[in-house]
Amino acid sequence: MQGLMMDAPLLVSGILTHAERNHAHQEIVTRLVEGGIHRYTFGDCARRTAQLAHALQEMGVKPGDRIGVMGWNTHRQLELYYAISGIGAVCHTINPKLGPQNAAFVMNHAEDRFVFFDTTFAPLVQALRPHLSGVERYVAMTTEEETAKLGVGVDCYETLLEGKPERFDWPSFDENTAAAMCYTSGTTGQPKGVLYSHRALVLQCFAALLPTSFGAGAGDTILPVVPMFHVNAWGVPYSALMIGMKLVMPGPGLDGKSLHELITTEGVTFAVGVPTVWLNLLAHVEENGLDLGRLRYTLVGGAALSRKIIDGYEKYGVRTRQGWGMTEMSPTGTVNFDGPGFYDLPHDERIEVQLRQGKALPFVDMRIVSDAGEELPWDGKSDGHLHVRGPWILSSYYKAEEPTLTDDGWFDTGDVCVIHPDGRMQITDRAKDVIKSGGEWISTIDIENVGLSHPAVAQAAAIGMPHPKWQERPLLIVQLKDGAAASTDDIKDFVNEKLPRISQVDDVQAVDEIPLGATGKVLKTELRKTFADYQLPDLR
Ligand code: ADP
Repeated sequence: MQGLMMDAPLLVSGILTHAERNHAHQEIVTRLVEGGIHRYTFGDCARRTAQLAHALQEMGVKPGDRIGVMGWNTHRQLELYYAISGIGAVCHTINPKLGPQNAAFVMNHAEDRFVFFDTTFAPLVQALRPHLSGVERYVAMTTEEETAKLGVGVDCYETLLEGKPERFDWPSFDENTAAAMCYTSGTTGQPKGVLYSHRALVLQCFAALLPTSFGAGAGDTILPVVPMFHVNAWGVPYSALMIGMKLVMPGPGLDGKSLHELITTEGVTFAVGVPTVWLNLLAHVEENGLDLGRLRYTLVGGAALSRKIIDGYEKYGVRTRQGWGMTEMSPTGTVNFDGPGFYDLPHDERIEVQLRQGKALPFVDMRIVSDAGEELPWDGKSDGHLHVRGPWILSSYYKAEEPTLTDDGWFDTGDVCVIHPDGRMQITDRAKDVIKSGGEWISTIDIENVGLSHPAVAQAAAIGMPHPKWQERPLLIVQLKDGAAASTDDIKDFVNEKLPRISQVDDVQAVDEIPLGATGKVLKTELRKTFADYQLPDLR
């Protein structure tokens, strides 16, 4: 028997309409690419998004067209998110840090018809133009004055909106229609396209807003440092509007000083980003004897959370929550929610639990599978490949030539993990990074965590080096804090004292700068190239 409910589709435009009706006076604050701070309300945002939708239709944008957007987190990109998806087209966010070759690849692969970009990326866009035969028009997301500086062949965002009606009758269509698109950042291979449906984005937004998920609420002022050019800034542009949270957009100012300024002047209470961002901010606050204003929580994901971040922020009264996800999961799969009693646990015991990636959001199924394909128990000990399935997890990469899922319909995340009996998943590593030594798997995350806890270490990365007897042994590569003078031998003694025997590192090497990829994660592929000719001490 079928239920007798309306078949009303879950569309992204519904979030904007709701925000306009119910939270019209809430603020969106943006650090502008042009300099200065821009401030307006959800109501203003809805009106300008309507104008943009009219402009897009006038440009000839049709349902299903892919529109490339290469920009910082700003109110203009927010308007593009809602206007493009709202008219049934696909908002293809492009990561400008992918490098010219990958950027051209993803734009051609997606067949972008129009490209919107921030002026910061004008040189990149100019260089890409000869390679993008399918793009009909380029629009600079700025004022007429700034656009004029870019020369001919570029339209101006603000001019497009001028004089357009401030209301738009958002169409209704199938909720499985594609709303947005994002390519994986290529940390471990060529970028692959993921097409988000309206349904997936709306459901993920609801799930992220559960009190047991991100844990941000209506009273929060939220700062997505995580970029809108990669996995929709973890859905914050949707969730903030859904429940009327004040939204603070950092624009191009992602350094410690700019973030600190925005956090304190705008009263940010909840901030979201990758670990490297939080380490940089912490260093800035510590070095300059500052505080973090009203900030009460950071949600950290995209790479493993470290003890250094947890303890470092707690000194300033800020708690840290960890999430895990992937481009392919829209992106959130788990959050380590610190429920009642969590902070009553003894400190070290609590940190151990806090370093886990957390419990699955509702409707996300997880399983762990051994190399031989057997399903493993959730005992906190058995580690294997993490498979997932659920309503906001991809069914196929865009234009995939091979099936994306396993024969029985699961997505293999490429991560290796254990799951504890309470349901908390803990990533040991990426399958491609895990160090295989004497038949055991060594977690590089564990080694890096200990490395980072050395007071002189700013960044740490562990990689497996070939070893004739053990197959691989760990090498820890560190970047020291500015002005720090610890020796690599000191650091080696420090970490090996804290690690189980199997994980103890064979050597520590210091580099000036650990390379970070397009989303602020350590690029181990680059480090492996740098250390290609390196030999571990006992092999020299
Ligand atoms: P890419 O795979 O191109 O780096 P993603 O941003 O989709 O792009 O990264 C997803 C991967 O990031 C996950 O598969 C996992 O390896 C890693 N990751 C994400 N969150 C965490 C976390 N909290 N702890 C450890 N690793 C994480």
